[in-house]
Amino acid sequence: MKRICVYCGSSPGFDPGYMAMAQQLGQALVDRQYELVYGGAAVGLMGQVADTVMRAGGVVIGVIPKALAHKVSHQGLTQLHVVASMHARKTMMFDLADACIALPGGFGTLEEVAEFLTWAQLRLHTKPCGLLNVAGYFDLLLAFLDNAVAQGFMKQAHREMLLVATTPQEMLTRLEGYTAPVVEKWVEPQK
Ligand code: AMP
Repeated sequence: MKRICVYCGSSPGFDPGYMAMAQQLGQALVDRQYELVYGGAAVGLMGQVADTVMRAGGVVIGVIPKALAHKVSHQGLTQLHVVASMHARKTMMFDLADACIALPGGFGTLEEVAEFLTWAQLRLHTKPCGLLNVAGYFDLLLAFLDNAVAQGFMKQAHREMLLVATTPQEMLTRLEGYTAPVVEKWVEPQK
C-alpha cells in the first residue's frame, strides 16, 4: 500500500476529540510513509487531516468537483485535481488509493464508505476499508450492519470486510494485514 484515501466530515463535529483524531491520523499516515488522497476541501475534519499531513512533510492529493472548488478547495496541497462531478471525484479518489479509512462524518462520508464496500462485496476490487471509531461514533452504524446480517441482507464475511479500530496505528496495521474474502454476494433463503 502506498496511498490511503480518507473519507471524513466536511464539518469539525462538536466534540474537539474528532478534530484531534483527524490530526492523529494525518500524523500516523506520514509516520508510516503513506500518501493521503482525500476530497480536497479545506474545511472540517477534511481540512484538518490534509493540514496535518502537509505540515508533517507528507504528500496530499485532493480531488474536488468544480462545483465545490471555488468555495472550499484547499490551496496548499501537493496536488489538487478539479474534476467535472461528484461521481468523477469518487472514481478518481478510488483509483488513486490502495485502501480507505473513514473518520466521523455525515451523508458524504457514509456514501463514500458504502460505495467502496459495495464494490468490494461484488469483488470488483480487493482493497481494504476501515472505520476509525472515535468515541463510539460509529457504534449505531455497526449495530445496523449486524442487524443486516441477522436479517439475511448481508453475509457475515462481507460485514467483516469493514475493519474497525480506535487508534490510527491499529487501523493501519489492520489494513496492512487484510485479505479480501472470496464469497458470493447473494444470501440464500433459510431452509
Ligand atoms: P460529509 O460527511 O457529509 O461532511 O461529507 C464529507 C465527504 O463527502 C468527504 O469525504 C468528501 O469527499 C465529500 N464532501 C461532502 N461535502 C463536501 C464539501 N463541502 N467539500 C468537499 N467535499 C465534500
